[in-house]
Amino acid sequence: MPAPGQAITSRLVPLLTPGNSEPQTHPMKYVLHSLIATIACGLCTPASFGQSALNRAVRFADHMEPSIPHEEQTTIADEKLEALKKSTGKRPNIVWLLVDDMGYGDPGCYGGGITTGAATPNMDRLAREGIRLTSCYAQNTCTPTRSAMLTGRLPVRTGLTRPILAGDKLTVNPWEGESSLPKILEESGYNTLLVGKWHIGSAPGMRPHEIGFDEHFGYYGAQKETSQAVDPSRYPDLILDAEKFQRYQAIGEDNGLMHGFADGTLEEVSTVDSIEDMARADKVLTDFSVQKILELSKSDKPFFLEHAFMKVHTDDYAHPDFVGMSASKYPYKDALCEVDMEIGMIVQALEDAGVLENTFISVTSDNGPQMDGWPDSGYTPFRGAKGTTWEGGVRVPGIAYWKGMIKPGRESDDVFDLMDLFNTSLHIAGAESMVPKGRYIDGIDQTSFLLHDQGQGNRECVFFWFKSNLMAIRMREYKSHVKVILPHSNLMHIDMATLEDTGTAPWLFNLYIDPKEELAVGHRMNAWLASLGAELAAHAATFKKYPPKNVGL
Ligand code: CA
Repeated sequence: MPAPGQAITSRLVPLLTPGNSEPQTHPMKYVLHSLIATIACGLCTPASFGQSALNRAVRFADHMEPSIPHEEQTTIADEKLEALKKSTGKRPNIVWLLVDDMGYGDPGCYGGGITTGAATPNMDRLAREGIRLTSCYAQNTCTPTRSAMLTGRLPVRTGLTRPILAGDKLTVNPWEGESSLPKILEESGYNTLLVGKWHIGSAPGMRPHEIGFDEHFGYYGAQKETSQAVDPSRYPDLILDAEKFQRYQAIGEDNGLMHGFADGTLEEVSTVDSIEDMARADKVLTDFSVQKILELSKSDKPFFLEHAFMKVHTDDYAHPDFVGMSASKYPYKDALCEVDMEIGMIVQALEDAGVLENTFISVTSDNGPQMDGWPDSGYTPFRGAKGTTWEGGVRVPGIAYWKGMIKPGRESDDVFDLMDLFNTSLHIAGAESMVPKGRYIDGIDQTSFLLHDQGQGNRECVFFWFKSNLMAIRMREYKSHVKVILPHSNLMHIDMATLEDTGTAPWLFNLYIDPKEELAVGHRMNAWLASLGAELAAHAATFKKYPPKNVGL
């Protein structure tokens, strides 16, 4: 793999040369060549690298992503946290509720719900009584988002640039040299638990109970990796052909329900032998989380629970008790209704345990809907889908709820990257001084944004990557693409698409007037074009000092 820094800088010439200007004569070209040359020769550190005057962010440390300073809001948020700690005598619990492949347009509070045949009263209530983020970003697929949330680092830095699939053999354990959020929280005195989907490596040394979680109860892969071994109606060519099926089984993934502990104890609780086993999985996981919440709430230690649903990733099968639960009656919609009900059960368990007011809760999805699986897929109002860096692939629902701590009814379009949950969770836990050093951290502490009653976002830019390609940047309502994924058939964003350079100029969109990214505004309203290029160059420069890892994906 070429060093991403080199790949990026080679892309900056067209990126930073506006429109059809003659490359040899445009004055910007000279400046940019100088910038690129500076990056390329390694003389320029991220701290000294320029950013546009319009960029409000400040780089407070060489290895930390720049953030927008909000001193007063930070002070007030910290006072709130301190007051809570005094009243409860315990640091807060942290609960992440992560749905797989749920679309931006699926929950009712994002325009879906009853409109699209699947009511989501629980997510809607959390949004109504907490904060609803309208520009919350994931990576474009499962493994990259999940690993980024747990490390605060872009997938291109950790090497976890795409989903790990059956048969993949990594050359390096990607967790080597990383400090996961559960590991840091465990060291600071938290109980740490993952319930549900992992999908960041099933080989020894890469499993959740080996990288920082005290306990994991769940599955290593996505639903589809399991269902293709048990659904002969969908996969007859594999399951009904004994020779092929034997070869498939020989690649030997652990597809059952696993229960692992940090002391190395690992048990396969049950295997998935039928569609019905798959359909029942999420209810089993939720019952486990509910029971663990009641148990952990009695401990002297606070807890971090990541509950990662198996649904609504294709292939969805309705739980026998919830067939037809949705108005739509389609399996995806029944799955969405089930997940929403289970989110309600988990929040209820926190209330029953008497810890709701001392628990930060986030609800989100790990990427956009997988339109390649339609109609077993979610909905997005935006262009593109899972597997792309168009808004449809990366903009996800983002709800944060904390009774008494987050003012009900808040909404914000300030940008939020799911990696920010890494830094934010450490701050909430009082462990912000334990943010790792010696490696680049892309997450930003958004605690004050969420906790201050009129909080403003602390993040200025979001960078979008596809594998090891820097694709695009968003800053305020502007988004500029230097590479894009283009489908060659309707909805085929993964299975029939190409990765292409934008060519003569970056494609700049104003998401407020063109949320579907249909018509670039470069030459009509391009005041920010150069500044976005400067931000991309500064971002690229961070890879010179902090080189990315290649783990063989
Ligand atoms: Ca996913």
